[in-house]
Parts: sequence; structure tokens; C-alpha cells
Amino acid sequence: MLKQYDVIVVGAGHAGCEAALAAARLGASTLLLTMNLDLIAQMPCNPSVGGPGKGHLVREIDALGGEMGRNTDRTFVQVRMLNLSRGPAVRALRAQADKRLYSLTMKHTLEQTEHLDLAQGQVEGLLVRGDRVTGVVTALGQAFAAPAVVLTAGTFLNGRILSGESSFAAGRSGEVRGPPHRLLSPRRGAAPSPRTPRRSGCTSASPPGRRARPRHPGLRSRRAAPSGPAAAPPWRPPGRSCGR
Ligand SMILES: Cc1cc2nc3c(=O)[nH]c(=O)nc-3n(C[C@H](O)[C@H](O)[C@H](O)COP(=O)(O)OP(=O)(O)OC[C@H]3O[C@@H](n4cnc5c(N)ncnc54)[C@H](O)[C@@H]3O)c2cc1C
Repeated sequence: MLKQYDVIVVGAGHAGCEAALAAARLGASTLLLTMNLDLIAQMPCNPSVGGPGKGHLVREIDALGGEMGRNTDRTFVQVRMLNLSRGPAVRALRAQADKRLYSLTMKHTLEQTEHLDLAQGQVEGLLVRGDRVTGVVTALGQAFAAPAVVLTAGTFLNGRILSGESSFAAGRSGEVRGPPHRLLSPRRGAAPSPRTPRRSGCTSASPPGRRARPRHPGLRSRRAAPSGPAAAPPWRPPGRSCGR
């Protein structure tokens, strides 16, 4: 029999952790389903929280009772107000967290939260009846039912890794390879059963005649730059691994 929840959250990155905690803390029976339970709230690169780009977001999450700020308070190794020599509009608090501890501490918080179950699995499709979602199914054929599914697949959604000359479909480096974007392939009218035949997003979700979006518009347009003395240099992956 299918396990029934009020809410299923797919993906335990920053967004998924907040969504699952918010739902469970409101009393909804919640399942947080993610690819690897040992990589909950994993930060891909520089483990910084806040700063000019995202500081306002962290504070908004904090104001709404979210966990990111609290988890950072428990695990930061350095915290700094940036741009103190400039005007108040550009100042921003930024913390550097202990990357592994941040993940473990968030996992601990999730595990201690009432109404919240954690499970490991790669969600491969949505179960849909009529125009309503009824659950999810994983790559191993496990199905879970819920009237609400929150997708927070984040940086994995149709992600690609460019490394030197090679380029391949993947989520985060060192994790699952292959195209995780099949997540958005609804099985319309299907009974919520793991035995339901699968359809890909191309066959069921795309409107007829719609052209596929170029995978890397930036890459394409740079390659298409006119040649000649004033032409832009050939595109290369950025030398710095991250610039946030
Ligand atoms: C290379 C890189 C470097 C970055 N560096 C920084 C930085 O230094 N500072 C900064 O602030 N931001 C940085 N970012 C951005 C930051 O990582 C994202 O903004 C943030 O991780 C987004 O959080 P999220 O919860 O939306 O998604 P993610 O953190 O990507 O989490 C997605 C979660 O969904 C799970 N998932 C995906 N597909 C499925 C599926 N089919 N089934 C089950 N689970 C699934 C994954 O396992 C993961 O747990 C960087 C991003 C990248 C790619």
C-alpha cells in the first residue's frame, strides 16, 4: 500500500529543508525525499551564507521562522559585515559556514522534527490524476502519495557540468550523473502505482510544436560571435570555480 503524506518535498537542498520544516512545523505529515541523505543541505562550492547577493533572502527566511540563519549561527567559522567602507545600501552580513557541520546539523534538526520523515531516493516522475498531482515515484519504483508535492531539485534540474573540454548531464559534481530533468514527466490519469508505464517530459509535458530550448544559450551565442580581429576570444569555462 502507498504511504500517504500531506506534503512531499523533493530535494533536501536549502529550499527543500526549509519547505519540509515549514510544512512539518505547521503539523502537516511531511516526507522529505532526496537523492542522498548524507548530503542534506550540501553547499556546492564556497560554503558562504548571506552576502550582497543573498543576504536579504537569508534574513527573509529568518523572519519567517526558517532554519538557514539558525543553522548558520550554530556552524559558522567566520562572520563579517561586508562593504563597511561604503554606504549602508551595499553592506551585507556574510558568514562562512563549516560545510560538513552545516549539513550534519541541518540533518539533525530535520530528524528531530515531528511529523517529518526523511527518505533517500531519486524521484523520477510525478503521479497525476486528472489535473491534480497525487504523488511521486522514485527510480527504484517506490511510490509515495500526497496531495501536495514541492519540487526543490535546485541546481540539479537539467544541470550540466562543464569540465575542461568535457560536458555532461549531471547534478552536483561527484553526485548522480545523467539527466535528472525527467522529474517533470507527469503520468496523466495514471493510477498511483509503481508499475505505471513511464513517459518522458518530451512526450507528455511539452505543447505540440514547441521547440526545445537551447541547452546553453550563453555558450551558443559566444561561439556564434563573428570572427575577425575584434572578435571575442573563444569561450572557455571560467578559471575560478565559483564567484559568489
Ligand atoms: C558550482 C556551484 C557553486 C555555487 N557556489 C555558491 C556559493 O559559493 N555561495 C552561494 O551562496 N551559492 C552558491 N551556489 C548556488 C547555491 O548552490 C544554490 O543557490 C543553492 O544550492 C540552491 O538551493 P536549492 O535548495 O534550490 O537546490 P540544491 O542545493 O541544488 O538542492 C537540490 C536538492 O535536490 C535533490 N534532488 C535533485 N533532483 C532530485 C530528484 N530527482 N529526486 C530527489 N532529490 C533530488 C538533490 O540531491 C539536492 O539535495 C553555487 C551553485 C553551484 C552549482
